[in-house]
Amino acid sequence: MRKIIFATLGILALASAVAAQSNAVQTAADALGAARIKTLQFTGSGQNFSVGQNYTPAEAWPPVTVKSYTASMNYDTGSMRVELVREMGAVMPRGGGGPFFGEQRQVQVVSGNYAWNVPPAAGNAPAPPPQANPDSQLERMLALWATPQGFVKAAMNNKATTKNASGGTEVSFTVGGKYKMTGIVNAKGQVDKVTTWIDNPIVGDMPVVTTYTGYKDFGGVMFPSRIVQTQDGFPSLDINISNVTANPSVDIAAPDAVRNFTPPPVRVETKQMGEGVWYLTGATHHSLVVEMKDHIVVVDVPNNVPRASAVLAKAKELVPNKPIRYVVTSHHHWDHLGGIRMAMNEGATIVTHQTNKAFLERVAKTPHTINPDPLATSKKGVKIQAVADKGVLTDGNRTIELHLLKGYEHTGDMLVVYLPKEKLLAEPDAFTPPAQAGTPLIPPARPFAKTLYDNIQRLKLDVQVIAPFHGNRTTDVAELSKAAATSSN
Ligand SMILES: [Zn+2]
Repeated sequence: MRKIIFATLGILALASAVAAQSNAVQTAADALGAARIKTLQFTGSGQNFSVGQNYTPAEAWPPVTVKSYTASMNYDTGSMRVELVREMGAVMPRGGGGPFFGEQRQVQVVSGNYAWNVPPAAGNAPAPPPQANPDSQLERMLALWATPQGFVKAAMNNKATTKNASGGTEVSFTVGGKYKMTGIVNAKGQVDKVTTWIDNPIVGDMPVVTTYTGYKDFGGVMFPSRIVQTQDGFPSLDINISNVTANPSVDIAAPDAVRNFTPPPVRVETKQMGEGVWYLTGATHHSLVVEMKDHIVVVDVPNNVPRASAVLAKAKELVPNKPIRYVVTSHHHWDHLGGIRMAMNEGATIVTHQTNKAFLERVAKTPHTINPDPLATSKKGVKIQAVADKGVLTDGNRTIELHLLKGYEHTGDMLVVYLPKEKLLAEPDAFTPPAQAGTPLIPPARPFAKTLYDNIQRLKLDVQVIAPFHGNRTTDVAELSKAAATSSN
């Protein structure tokens, strides 16, 4: 008897849950005009932020002014185009991010399975071809379905479940088979907050939280007047909306160059810089391999898992039968850290500035369920060797010095690598020489030449060769000193 009563109550509870679900989503659909809005455009201005480029791991992402932000979306075709005009003042905020001064236009597009950027034309030159950007597809697609109207449409199409939550009803569902989306719909049917998770090689399942406030009627469409997004806990976008248009013409399709794009194979080129020392290039970010008596030291495993795997494999090919015992990470910026979990999985001790210790301990343990990497399976523990102003790795014969750059606005934890025997200095980001020696040095591209030069003087390092971790050639102190004379920092 008791069982039957429970069964009946169960059915009643289920029925009311279904009713609540359709109620919250339906209320939102009605309030936001989700059914009649097929395309949408909104414009605004504010700030975006250089994610993964903070001055220290504990600081917020560095901000960049966004003079104008225009997002155009077509929900029927699953497409979105975002056009930003960014502006840098005379002084860049401390932290990383591509250095520029003045205005910078960016066009970022997603359509179905394709993502690409449209580079700006220079002067009267013909427009350059679109650049396929497959790594951004997931983030941009989720951003499209995280817009208020998009979220309601996606909820209706993906069997959303609901439950009561603080601030309203929590609506959850999965898109594309494995990407969870969850949002809060308030009593007025407004979507207050949407959370998605994207795969990041460093911090794993990274939360992207978008908060919508100040809903108002923009000429017949209810839309928030402010959008604030965070990634990995820090603001990544903060836009005040000035204009919203319902159902404009938004015709976006992936160009052939984007559809036919296949990523080039990962290539690691090597240049021997002395006995047992190799400079690894072949992509945007370089590394250094040093052979010690009974082990290998690698400096930087950048970009992503495929690049890091190739760098680690190359190190073992160059120095057979010795383990990679230390991987030095020059600094914590994500473009130089994309393979750090591969280094941890290798069992190497990670050598880093002391301000990164807590962050790297989190990186070692963070969940990677969206796109599990080898460390997610092996669950190996992490070994970290923290360095203050100076670190030394030695095997009794060879010495590797690590020096903290002082007064370096790009990052607070930059360890440059000095090999006294070879008089070689390896450095990321501080000075990248122009492609051809002797070409004019344009300050914005090399804003930190002076800082690097001053540090070399302060440390009294006898440097003959500088191996930069960007660019296409090595350089020397003479060229650095010339650059320093015209450098802003
Ligand atoms: Zn950097």
